[in-house]
Amino acid sequence: MRLTRAGYFADFLVYPLLLGLLAWLSLDHEVVHERLLWLAAAAAGVAVWTLIEYILHRYVLHGVPPLRQMHARHHASPTELIGTPSWFSVAVFGGLVFAPLVHWAQASIAYGATAGLMLGYLWYVAVHHATHHRRARLGSYLHRAKLRHAVHHHAQEPCNFGVTTSLWDRVFGTASP
Ligand SMILES: [Zn+2]
Ligand SMILES: [Zn+2]
Repeated sequence: MRLTRAGYFADFLVYPLLLGLLAWLSLDHEVVHERLLWLAAAAAGVAVWTLIEYILHRYVLHGVPPLRQMHARHHASPTELIGTPSWFSVAVFGGLVFAPLVHWAQASIAYGATAGLMLGYLWYVAVHHATHHRRARLGSYLHRAKLRHAVHHHAQEPCNFGVTTSLWDRVFGTASP
């Protein structure tokens, strides 16, 4: 949805604070094994995020009304401040990720996996913003992401749903050079 400037950039403040909190609550644990468990869960969370990002973009933002219409507005007007409000994404992470995990898994895994997914989300938000608002050096990661995402915006056939990585487009056959 269309956000105010403060609402649009709030993710860049809210998520680093939450990530710091989740790390601080777990990583000062005196048992090294627990810290390693947190780090492994966080790494898995980042990796899983890239698949969630692909599925959400392909099947939700391009499939489910009224999100489809909101996302179409972003496609038509890519530099407009359109995004997901932080309060909504934080509520989703809290209710659908952290709450079940903290109930069913041990604390280090719950905190680490939530932090990893949040880090993946922040990575996605930052890269997506940069693809539309920043210049990129030829051949850089951001340059490749910009080209890939520009093709997604303008291609006739739906393709290149991955923003942070082209991995899942290549796996599911939706990659376009
Ligand atoms: Zn799209
Ligand atoms: Zn875009």
